[in-house]
Amino acid sequence: MTWEFSTDPVFQKKLDWMREFVRNQVWPLETLQLTWPQLRHVIAPLQQEVKARELWAAHLDPELGGQGYGQVKLGLMHEILGSSPLGPLVFGCQAPDSGNAEILAAVGTEEQKLRWLEPLLAGAMYSSFALTEPDNAGADPTNLTTTAVRDGAGWVLNGHKWFISNASTSDFMIVVAVTDPSAPRHRRTSQFVVPIGAPGLDVVRDIASMENPRPIENTYGSHCEVLLTDVRLGPEALLGNIGDGFLISQKRLGPGRIHHSMRWIGQARRAFDMLCERATYRYAHGSVLADKQTVRNWIADSAAEIQALELMTLQAAWKIDEYGSAAARKEIALIKYYGAKTLHDVIDRAIQVHGSLGYSSDLPLESMYRAARAARLYDGPDEVHRESVARLCLREYEAPADNRPSEHVPTRRQQAKARYADVLAEFAGQS
Ligand SMILES: Cc1cc2nc3c(=O)[nH]c(=O)nc-3n(C[C@H](O)[C@H](O)[C@H](O)COP(=O)(O)OP(=O)(O)OC[C@H]3O[C@@H](n4cnc5c(N)ncnc54)[C@H](O)[C@@H]3O)c2cc1C
Repeated sequence: MTWEFSTDPVFQKKLDWMREFVRNQVWPLETLQLTWPQLRHVIAPLQQEVKARELWAAHLDPELGGQGYGQVKLGLMHEILGSSPLGPLVFGCQAPDSGNAEILAAVGTEEQKLRWLEPLLAGAMYSSFALTEPDNAGADPTNLTTTAVRDGAGWVLNGHKWFISNASTSDFMIVVAVTDPSAPRHRRTSQFVVPIGAPGLDVVRDIASMENPRPIENTYGSHCEVLLTDVRLGPEALLGNIGDGFLISQKRLGPGRIHHSMRWIGQARRAFDMLCERATYRYAHGSVLADKQTVRNWIADSAAEIQALELMTLQAAWKIDEYGSAAARKEIALIKYYGAKTLHDVIDRAIQVHGSLGYSSDLPLESMYRAARAARLYDGPDEVHRESVARLCLREYEAPADNRPSEHVPTRRQQAKARYADVLAEFAGQS
């Protein structure tokens, strides 16, 4: 039996190097408000260094220019990268590009791989993924109304999307659209590659949000509103089979949620470090904060929650590696909402212990807090994942035939008495 919690020493060395590199080279960039062209220029030499160390695009198999590490190793990497919103970008595994690369690798034709996947992996192109619509519940993607209608050999797309991350800085977008409204719910949609600049594709605006209340045009990390008006595409735009839109999205989301969760752990650990550091020297009411029981409880609870999340996430990653995403559905759904809550709670405590400083923009905590709120929504809201977990748990149970709990003590006592009647009779009257 194997029950292993250690990291092999060769890979640990890579992780140690990454931790130093991200802290020394990437964290400083967060403090500058760089435009997308400036950011690309500044990170180019860092990306070269990552490539030289064979840590670039680690989510893909070696034949596609990746490292083929599998989800457990990837998870450990994402914990380090997630400490900064720019970490994944420097290592070529940022969302949504990593998921889009996985789609292209899995269902793309040779021509699609050459045109879109290769430049995406080289960091020469960036992409976005357009599923959510303002007028339909994104939590239930079987309700989409964006359409893709046959036009000779090609397609015409019409629809309205929103919250499309990085659409305004991307070179192409993968759009999910209804190709057969009369098909069963999960077979109605297909996916298409749409180049930015295609006639009829309008990236209307970077939406102001909690994460970015005053968006500056042409900066990385936008969430955009997008209109598709008679966007004409050739047959080569279709990804995979007609009707596979939902299926492809599901494949993409499993490993993506492991990476989200590990990135949240990276953020939570950064907040935890700030929480503990502050507690050691801030003096109030006769002692440093580290001596107050409430603060000690926050530290202990945060340590426990982060560790629980890490173990849960790595176990889900291991299950994907061993048995595939479908087998790990419950574990993946669990970490999505448990992780979002852990991230929020640890940052919240770190803000509280810093008082007004924590609330100010002189520390990264307030922006981390605003970004953390979104974790309860994107890739499916908490409620949907809780619902999935409950459904999968309940599958293992059925109502007792007599409508009596199977643990009902009087019933069990009666059964036990019948089973042990001989012994009970033999010892009757003895104390
Ligand atoms: C920062 C950020 C980035 C994003 N990036 C992208 C992107 O790149 N591409 C993209 O396509 N989308 C993206 N999204 C959209 C995201 O995927 C959706 O917001 C999410 O799926 C929820 O859809 P909705 O916003 O339409 O909310 P709705 O579906 O309207 O849900 C609203 C609320 O209804 C409740 N609810 C829904 N279903 C149930 C249920 N079954 N049981 C109980 N309660 C329920 C929940 O409380 C939920 O929060 C992003 C969102 C955010 C916040």
